[in-house]
Parts: sequence; C-alpha cells; structure tokens
Amino acid sequence: MRAPRGKIFLLLALLLTTACSAVDAAHSPAPPARSTAAPSAPKPAPADDRAAAFRKWGIPLLPPPPAPPAVKPIRTGDGAIPVVSDIPTDQKIVFLTFDDGAEKDPKFVQMMRDLKIPFTMFLTDDIIKNDYGFFRPLQALGNSIQNHTLSHPDLHGRSLAQQKHEICFQQTKLTHEYGTAPGLFRPPYGNYNADTRTAVKSCGGLRAMILWRESMQIKKVQFQRPDKKFHPGDIILAHFRGPAQLKGESMTAMTANLLRQIASQGFTLARLDDYV
Ligand SMILES: [Zn+2]
Repeated sequence: MRAPRGKIFLLLALLLTTACSAVDAAHSPAPPARSTAAPSAPKPAPADDRAAAFRKWGIPLLPPPPAPPAVKPIRTGDGAIPVVSDIPTDQKIVFLTFDDGAEKDPKFVQMMRDLKIPFTMFLTDDIIKNDYGFFRPLQALGNSIQNHTLSHPDLHGRSLAQQKHEICFQQTKLTHEYGTAPGLFRPPYGNYNADTRTAVKSCGGLRAMILWRESMQIKKVQFQRPDKKFHPGDIILAHFRGPAQLKGESMTAMTANLLRQIASQGFTLARLDDYV
C-alpha cells in the first residue's frame, strides 16, 4: 500500500528540520534565543473589526495611533542616558506601560489581541521566571519587553556593582528569553541615582530611563499634576496585577477602566519605542 505523497514529504521535512536544529545546537556556543524576530508594529485592524473589538470590551473606540514621527523627539545615543517621564508632542497621545509581570491572565492576552493597542512591558526576572512564555504572545503583537531589573530592589541604597548586576544581568536574561535586547530601563519605584545612570550605560543596548506621569490604581488614575488631566505625551504606569493585588478586580477590568478614562479625555495611545 502506498502512503500518500504529502505525508512522506511532511515526514521528510520534519526529519530535516530536526537534524538541522540538532547540528546547529551542537555548534553554537550559547543556546539559541527562542525568538529572533524583533517585534514590529502590528498591522492596523480594519475599522469595523476595531470598533467591534472595543464594543466587546465595553470601551469607547480609541482612534488608531498617529503615524510615528520621522525623527524621535527624545534624542538618545549621544552618551548621556535621558530620564523620560513624558514625550514632547502636541498630539493627544499618551503611552501605556505595564510593569513587573506578576499577573498572568490569559484574558488580558485575549483583550490585547482584540484591541491591538500599543503598550510597553517593563519586566522583572524574579516575577516572570515562573512563566516567561506568558509574555511572548503580547510581544508578538508588536509590544516591546524592557528592563526592570532582576529582583526589583530600591536601587538608591545599592552599590554601583550591585546596580550593574541587577540591570546588566536582566538585560542578558531578557535578550535570551525574548530574542531582542531591551533598549529602555525603568528603575523599580522610580528610584535612581548617578550610579544607576552609570550602570545603565555600562550594560550596552539601553538608551533611556523611563519614568511616568500617571499611575493606574484599581479604578482610578493617579495624576502627578494638580489639574488631574492627561497631557500630550504623558507616560502612564500600570502593572500586571490581578485580583490578589486589586481587591478582587481583574487585570482586564483595571485596563478597561484606564482606557475609558483615556478615551473620556479625548486621548489615544501611541507606541513608546517610536518616540524614544
Ligand atoms: Zn516595578
């Protein structure tokens, strides 16, 4: 009896792939990173799909991000490490960031697949190492994974050597796990000193330190400025947090609350990597 031709071909292809991988692994000095593709901006969804996705999650429709600027308004790479809390722009855009990585809610991944809004993740190894894989589909949507230290210490009280260890080793770990070297660093609690800048510069690859202007609580946004409003270019801090940290509220509910407040002030989200 003849096996179908397609099956034989598939089997051959599988054997070849396996063999090649085995040879590559034997010859390469370090284990290959699991993903080599840098995240790229997601393709915009058709307007109807977009509107339906926002309706599904009970959020007013946010306009798509404007075209990225030809020249990034935050200059990097000339030796100094800039510390950035907001981006100079006159467009009604803000930038969403999620920190640490504690909550790993598959519904949040679904929400982001539906909404396709841009955001940036600042991840800490101690908090994500029980499930590095959770963040890969979020990265695959075009969202970058950035450096938030190995163990989330207050860097203020640490020596330069300790700070280098926390930041540079996390740089190596994230590059290995996610296939792309982080370019941005956020110090835990927003605390840093002159040694932090030296450490960030010494790791290689990091171009800026990112702080924030607003932080998302459970239902409300906490504003730094007394007018309690978003301003063009503000960076917003949120966290991967779930019911244990949010008094029973889910991460998707917290995110929906935040997006509603952004929409109510007439803002939309843009991609931080395009501006720094
Ligand atoms: Zn943190």
